[in-house]
Amino acid sequence: MKLPVTSAGFAGATWDDVLPFYDALASAPLDGETLDGWLRQWSRLEELLGEAASLAMIAYTCDTTDPDKEAAYLRFSSEVIPRAEEQGVHLARRLVELGIVPDGLETTIARFRASIDIFRQSNVPLFAELEELGARYHRITGAMVARWEGELLPLPRLTPFLQSVDRDERERAYRATVEPYVVERGALAELFTLMVERRQAVARNANFSDYVTFSFVAKHRFSYTPGDCTRFHDAVESVVVPAHTRSLAFRRERLQVEALRPWDIGVNLYRAEPLTPFTDGTDLARGVGRMFTRVDPVLGAQFQTMIDENLLDLDSRKGKAPGGYCDTLHVIGRPFIFMNASGVMEDVTTMLHEAGHAFHAFASREQPMVWQRHPGAEAAELASMSMELLAAPELGPPAGMLDERDAAIARLEHLEDILASLVHIASVDAFQNWIYTSGKGLDPDQRDTAWLRIRARFEQGVDWSGLMAERIARWYRQLHIFLYPLYYIEYGIAQLGALQVFRNQRRDGDAALAAYRRFLALGATEPLPDLYRAAGASLIFDPVAMRPLIDMVEEEMDRLRGVAA
Ligand SMILES: [Zn+2]
Repeated sequence: MKLPVTSAGFAGATWDDVLPFYDALASAPLDGETLDGWLRQWSRLEELLGEAASLAMIAYTCDTTDPDKEAAYLRFSSEVIPRAEEQGVHLARRLVELGIVPDGLETTIARFRASIDIFRQSNVPLFAELEELGARYHRITGAMVARWEGELLPLPRLTPFLQSVDRDERERAYRATVEPYVVERGALAELFTLMVERRQAVARNANFSDYVTFSFVAKHRFSYTPGDCTRFHDAVESVVVPAHTRSLAFRRERLQVEALRPWDIGVNLYRAEPLTPFTDGTDLARGVGRMFTRVDPVLGAQFQTMIDENLLDLDSRKGKAPGGYCDTLHVIGRPFIFMNASGVMEDVTTMLHEAGHAFHAFASREQPMVWQRHPGAEAAELASMSMELLAAPELGPPAGMLDERDAAIARLEHLEDILASLVHIASVDAFQNWIYTSGKGLDPDQRDTAWLRIRARFEQGVDWSGLMAERIARWYRQLHIFLYPLYYIEYGIAQLGALQVFRNQRRDGDAALAAYRRFLALGATEPLPDLYRAAGASLIFDPVAMRPLIDMVEEEMDRLRGVAA
């Protein structure tokens, strides 16, 4: 088997070009003697093919107007990669059946084994139907437009008006944004019922009582249970909800309003105009580069490598795909960051977040096999969410992109957001658990009632009177519930991990950064609790461990309010 030397050898490959490599691995003799060489070949094949696919995606998302780039991207995403994944499952089965667990591949083989255990041929058509139903969700929501000043606009265009200092304008923007979901409630509810039916069938086919217990195995959640998530909800209710409610009370007073309405959440309390921390992508890269160097010179040098080697495409421009991502090029051992920056503070936060993923890719590159590098979302998001907090103290002088007061305003918004998102995560996760375990999740009206009940438990301090349909519409707007079921608690676990890393930095910056980098370098080679331990953190589901972190957030908010005032 003669693999190409670089991923360029696969740049124009069709499935017919790739299949012989998988066939060779499928028929090669495999025993204790040949295992190491076989694994290296397979890993190298995955690296080369993955990098060719990533480069095709990068080329296309940076320029969606070029038909050749589009064709290459589609060839990989719809033809080559799905088939390669199928072949990968066969090879994983060979490996697991061999019964040998090579050093450093313990977690890889545990993941392979779990996926094999729950695989059922009868579920393949159900997953295909779920894909189709997911596309229908995209079609319904993608076609939504808001009525605004006599025009019909795509919903994201109203975002600036949701943050307006003019309260009436905010209210109109809020109502216009939510209205399409209120109107489509019936169609979305019907669609969701079909999804729940199929997901429960998938679980039953694999001998699970419900989709929650199935998902814990499918998502390789070996280190925590559905019961831990229930404890997480309870802990958020007792610790975070009061802190979030205090933060909302402060907001209400500062805005001098009788009652805080849903359209009062997005407006900045200290500035009439949005922050403008940078001019263009080059300026953004230089700015965060200075910040990273102050956080840790090694990370600063890695980021400089990304600038020098053109591994950033940051500016929003015509023809570029929307959104942002960080992808890994496994053969050259480099990350790539794609963004649509327009000069606002949210772009800086996104940049710090994606850079955390990029530093993870740099560090875990030291692991020899491709499967050893990317851990699950709980650990991947620990890398990125920690970096948001680790770099935040550098937003202001001397190296940052804002003056002292604006830096305090930006950090306040970030911390306020952390409280709000923990509360939101708990309600979304509790709701999804109810859907798949209560026995009533197929009934649209009971679902909406359950959402209102769960939401009232976690979101207090906002006056929703006269807005019941709008409050219900909130869950229909959460695409994870439709498309990535039960995928959300990971962010909560990672956020609490990141707060611990931040606390460590406040106590001893060098030690905290050393631990963070040790964690990054482990990639996916250790079980989740050990990855967290390496970072100087632990998985938190209980109020006793949660409370001091939330106290720290509130103290920090108090201090920053003094600077921002
Ligand atoms: Zn992320």
